[in-house]
Amino acid sequence: MLAFMVSREGNSTPTRRNPGSQSALRQLNRERIVQALAAGPATQAELSRTTGLSTATISNIVKELERDSMVHTAPTTSSGRRALQVRLNADNSVAVGIDFGREASTSLVLGHHAEHGIAMAHDLMERLLRENGLTHGDVIGVGIGIPGPLDRRSHTVAHGAVLPEWVGIETEARLREALGLPVHIDNDANLGALAEATWGPYGGAENLVFLKIGSGIGAGLIVNGAPVYGNLGITGEIGHSTIDDRGAVCRCGSRGCLETIASTTTMIEQLSRNEPGPVTTRSIISGAREGHPATLRVLDDAGLAIGHALGTVANLLNPEVIVVGGPLAELEELLLEPIRRGILRHTIPMVGASTALTVSSLGERAEALGAAALVFRKPASAKK
Ligand SMILES: [Zn+2]
Repeated sequence: MLAFMVSREGNSTPTRRNPGSQSALRQLNRERIVQALAAGPATQAELSRTTGLSTATISNIVKELERDSMVHTAPTTSSGRRALQVRLNADNSVAVGIDFGREASTSLVLGHHAEHGIAMAHDLMERLLRENGLTHGDVIGVGIGIPGPLDRRSHTVAHGAVLPEWVGIETEARLREALGLPVHIDNDANLGALAEATWGPYGGAENLVFLKIGSGIGAGLIVNGAPVYGNLGITGEIGHSTIDDRGAVCRCGSRGCLETIASTTTMIEQLSRNEPGPVTTRSIISGAREGHPATLRVLDDAGLAIGHALGTVANLLNPEVIVVGGPLAELEELLLEPIRRGILRHTIPMVGASTALTVSSLGERAEALGAAALVFRKPASAKK
């Protein structure tokens, strides 16, 4: 599946980022304000309400954005009081977010998937720009999500990816060439985390875990306001945490990984044994809602295992919130309840009790939104 998100943003400017968490958090806040302004001009008080940021923070960041020519400000009155209206610079630029999901690759199995996928991305992007009356010149960059680990040294998709056909391909270079624009790629779970931390209801959280449950299970980690990439760029591989030492052999070569218990693929396999018809993610959702015992049991086992793995993560990072995404997220409490039980069982009480657990409100757009956020985080020097 390809998902595109175009969001208007002011002129991209060089960002003066330091590795410190303060500046990473500031960058997130900056993105939130720009995104809020994409809906139209607003006073600083209104920006404070829509973003949840303090008026002092808004005022500081607006000054910075104005200095960078990203916004214009003008005095106005609001409810009879003097206020400052902020609007994006008229000379808009655009970030494009693309998310490559597994669905596209499975339907492309007989072709050269990666190349076919790249061609599809190109066609969709061109159509989208045309429909919005935009040209390449308006685009500051394209952010792209890949459902699997990315080796940041070589910019290639690493082994263990859900898209085996992309392994070893210099994705970033190939996409840059095909799209004719600056390209930034990241793992889809990292982008989900970035989207939630930027635009989700927990946008103010400095420490956030995004967990995507699908045919694979991956996590994106935001710590002290910045995504965590580790040494190779391969972080958040929670799907390969061992839950059962003697469990089924996993595609990674280990045994009893979380994915072998709780991925949608595993749930479908388990439920298919006694079902006459085909089991799909949709039928799991409807079965759970109708109280189908086997479906509820499989969900309960999966949720407890996910909670077990997340409990370790919560003990290590003490996040404000864990956001669950992926196709089953629409089950909301039916999915969260066993996960919460698992977390509480495997965390120290203070951590378990203080970690909020929620489903993603950004839905299928999360990764594409994160891909656009990724572009906004990159310095303008990346522009050709
Ligand atoms: Zn594994």
